[in-house]
Amino acid sequence: MNIILGRMLIGFLDADCFYVSCERARLPHLMGQPVGVLSNQGACVIAKSYELKARGISTGMPIWKARPLCPEAVFVKRDFAWYEILSRRMADEVRQVSPAVEYYSIDELFFDASWLSRTFEAPLSEAAMRLRERIHSRVGVPVSVGVSRSRTLAKLAAKSVKPFGCRVLLDPEETKSFLHDCPVEEIAGIGWRSADKLHARQIRTVGNFAATDRHVICKLLTKKGEALWWELHGEPVLPLDTIRPPHKMVGRGGSLSGPTRDIERLRAWLVRNVERLVEALDRHGVVCETFSLSLRLESGHYIGDGTTLPEATAQFPRLLAAARDIFNRVYRSGDTVTHMHLNTERLSFRHAVQQSLLDRPSAQDIETARLKRLINKRVGRFAVRSGATLPLHDIYADPTNGHDICDIYGKLCF
Ligand SMILES: [Mg+2]
Repeated sequence: MNIILGRMLIGFLDADCFYVSCERARLPHLMGQPVGVLSNQGACVIAKSYELKARGISTGMPIWKARPLCPEAVFVKRDFAWYEILSRRMADEVRQVSPAVEYYSIDELFFDASWLSRTFEAPLSEAAMRLRERIHSRVGVPVSVGVSRSRTLAKLAAKSVKPFGCRVLLDPEETKSFLHDCPVEEIAGIGWRSADKLHARQIRTVGNFAATDRHVICKLLTKKGEALWWELHGEPVLPLDTIRPPHKMVGRGGSLSGPTRDIERLRAWLVRNVERLVEALDRHGVVCETFSLSLRLESGHYIGDGTTLPEATAQFPRLLAAARDIFNRVYRSGDTVTHMHLNTERLSFRHAVQQSLLDRPSAQDIETARLKRLINKRVGRFAVRSGATLPLHDIYADPTNGHDICDIYGKLCF
């Protein structure tokens, strides 16, 4: 459902260093300490506290590089199941004070802030602070909040006061001076390509962007850029999406928990990721028409390919055959692989696809898939899985590998 009202107030809530904050919510002794959250098998830093950032540690840095920069840091392994629980708790808190909430990512929410002041019986800026404090005390996670006339302004407002800040941006003069020095890349929706085009026209700040003729922006960045122009002028044209639109792509994959050129292990990862992919397609109730596989080599190069499937499908045997076919074509024996990504596109809802265009499974495939789903639902994820994944016994033995975050809007999640 898209909700858009002319004079609606839009709020944006963004958790501060979310994964670290989630760890601190259950391990209070980590408060104030330099904390890093590590990826699969502790290979690299995927989230960091401000204290760790101050020591020059960046997201994606391998642990062996990070450790000497901050020997006293505490590194913990990521626990997506826990982060998702707190993410939902945050959303529940916001739903109590707002009639419309958009779950934008695991730690970001847009919401209708029109009732905030009345709910807290306080002026808007104080009400925003009260919401922030309520979430902090009930969920244990610090957040920053921005409120304005449009999504784009609310997001910029929240970003400007991180961490643990609140900003209400309604006064036109205040908005103008706030945007004046803000780099144009800070606008959500302006990627590096758009930024390059704007820079070439000497449009370097959000203030420059807003002051540029709307038609010029439209010419440079099409209708999408024009929408941002209106948003920056306090005219909300990008609605709140309280019901997620269908995904454009569904992917699974990620790090292989350490570089490997062991062919049995690589083939096992292929099967594990296809099983996860099928699970994700099932969850969204979609079938795909195209499939692609990409492998990241230790050298940093990517190899891979894509294929159009004979019929729209979400069946394990079909997708596995496509994955194996590409793998056999692109992988050269001896190449060391660090990451594997499987991706599907041209998705349609199953019920909306004409039966004649749908890949109809055999009775045996239907029964196998049904039993697999049933047992895994009752006993636990991956309780029944393909025998080809046996070389990954270490991965399945570690329960932290049993959870994927699948609710990140508009982003691929692994
Ligand atoms: Mg955040």
